[in-house]
Amino acid sequence: MGRRSKVRWVTAVVGGSALLGAGTIALGARQGAAQAPAPQPAQAGPPATAKPGELGYTDTPLIPGQKWRVHDVERPAPTRVAPGVIASAPPSDALVLFDGKDLSKWAQRGPNNEIVDAKWPMREGYFETGAKTGSMFTRESFGDVQLHVEWAAPPVVAGSSQGRGNSGVILMGRYEVQVLDMHNNQTYADGGAASLYGQWPPLVTAPRAPGEWQTYDIIFEAPVFEGDKVVTPAFATVIWNGVLAHHRKELLGPTAHRTAPKYVAHAPTLPLTLQDHSNPVRYRNIWVRRLVRAS
Ligand code: MG
Repeated sequence: MGRRSKVRWVTAVVGGSALLGAGTIALGARQGAAQAPAPQPAQAGPPATAKPGELGYTDTPLIPGQKWRVHDVERPAPTRVAPGVIASAPPSDALVLFDGKDLSKWAQRGPNNEIVDAKWPMREGYFETGAKTGSMFTRESFGDVQLHVEWAAPPVVAGSSQGRGNSGVILMGRYEVQVLDMHNNQTYADGGAASLYGQWPPLVTAPRAPGEWQTYDIIFEAPVFEGDKVVTPAFATVIWNGVLAHHRKELLGPTAHRTAPKYVAHAPTLPLTLQDHSNPVRYRNIWVRRLVRAS
């Protein structure tokens, strides 16, 4: 199948970056990224050849609420990141969580709740939910992130409503972006694919057919707690197959089934979970970028 053959480029492009930790950016070090434009280092200040005012000012007012002046010449330039050659390929500062080869970045719980190697079945360039083996989670923990996930509902259609191609991308192991086969499958609105499960249906439903690869690009802002109190709730932006499904939607608490969500304080970073809902959903090309809030 033509779509499946595309897995090969994913492997090639990310092969050299699979071991990079997020935040340990080795710009230009990826062996397989020869097609990507060479990234440029951030400028420490204006070059000597710049005309006064050309690259910033020192006499402008402070931006309200910030420590910087309007067009402040001293304000550090954003870090440059070489985008992936193909939009869904990982950029240079991404931590690749699955590149088509192995599940070394993932773990599961054993019979005594101990952490064990992930056992979900590997296929050619993708893996499948290990139905009824329990959910899988990353070995690393994350807070604010940009996350790219590709998934496909089982090509052999079985079940209905929440029983058809159900899995989930669960930020911090608590906040689920639903994965569900929506092709000719009806379910409740806040439980469909790309819903913030039990809270918000997506703005639109933009599914592909069972067996076809679908994309989620998620920007997630972790909740902030002071003691047991929620200072800032979580927010999620979700782009599904290139279509906006949520625009910085406020999460009302962790995902719950048949009960109202309610925040419970937790650590600032936690593992990302993929849900085992007893259906053999497929995943490939998963990468994440840690986000740092502007100061
Ligand atoms: Mg689910």
